[in-house]
Amino acid sequence: MIVESERLNELGNLWEQLEPPEIVAAALDLFGERITIASSFGLEDVALIHMATQVSPGPVDVFCLDTGVLFAETYALLEQFSGSYPIRLRRMVPELSLDAQAERYGAQLWTRDPDLCCKLRKVEPLQRALKGYDAWVTGLRRAQGPTRQGAKAIERDAKHDLYKVNPLVRWSDEELWAYVRSEKVPYNPLHEQGYPSIGCRPCTRAVAPGEDPRAGRWAGFGKTECGLHL
Ligand code: SF4
Repeated sequence: MIVESERLNELGNLWEQLEPPEIVAAALDLFGERITIASSFGLEDVALIHMATQVSPGPVDVFCLDTGVLFAETYALLEQFSGSYPIRLRRMVPELSLDAQAERYGAQLWTRDPDLCCKLRKVEPLQRALKGYDAWVTGLRRAQGPTRQGAKAIERDAKHDLYKVNPLVRWSDEELWAYVRSEKVPYNPLHEQGYPSIGCRPCTRAVAPGEDPRAGRWAGFGKTECGLHL
């Protein structure tokens, strides 16, 4: 589906005024079966899945990038959602198993070259996950830090040649938590143990109160994004 740039701007302005559940409903309506939700089962993602399943007539298409080194709590939540929400979940796995990656590039590549590791275990599987879709939904929020300040409710994703919908773009941490709690959406217990952003186990640490929420990702590498949203 092609959304003309003028129409895209109109939608962007309109959706900027809507509440996140309304943006999710409008996006499902606009793109139908050709939209998928990216989920790492963080707080944003569980909220988005909940919103989508409230309005979708059929199962909601969701994918996660299963790098093989996610936290046990994340895998448990993923299973919980699979069993209790009407979703069609695709677990995108890297082409190289962890053993094959270690054989080719050495053990624990993330300690030496996290950019290459993210490319192999996240960026390439993402490209496969998006093939055949017109749009994807992400949990990007401007409050997540400087790298996300420019996010819009709907935008062209030229890199992947489709549209990116960011329904939570305007929400603060407090608004997100209020929604998850009032709707009783299951969430990762690590969020209450100092992990505002949860990625792969080897590359995520807890952050101190008041610290940049993404400072706990790839600590010591000057890296705050895995390349999915760059
Ligand atoms: S977050 Fe770390 S372990 Fe996960 S893919 Fe990136 S570098 Fe590898």
